[in-house]
Amino acid sequence: MGRVLIVEDNELNLKLFHDLLTIQEHEVVISRNGVNIIDLVKDTKPDLILMDIHLNGISGIDLIQTLKANQETKHIPIITVTAFAMKVDQAKISKSGCDMYLSKPVSIDKFFKAVEKFIPSVTKKSKL
Ligand code: MN
Repeated sequence: MGRVLIVEDNELNLKLFHDLLTIQEHEVVISRNGVNIIDLVKDTKPDLILMDIHLNGISGIDLIQTLKANQETKHIPIITVTAFAMKVDQAKISKSGCDMYLSKPVSIDKFFKAVEKFIPSVTKKSKL
């Protein structure tokens, strides 16, 4: 179990990610706009960040660069999630320093595997 910060402005995606993470007994923190991202991350200390790229009025890429440029937040893994998998975007995303990239629509299996890569599921193993 871990704590995951979801930065996402689409309510349906937000609910889906929230529900999937909650099923896996992760704690979820939500930001719909990425405002004051450094303070939010410092305060909530997530183990993983799920970052939407196209937010209302701000680019997720800028947020990733801000987080990766800060000594106190750079170690936190970031998975970007976006529907706009255009070549330009992909290049920008990989340069931004994010740790993994998922394109929408994200299959549940892919989603769980991505999260588990950064937050190994202790509960799952103990049930085996
Ligand atoms: Mn969006």
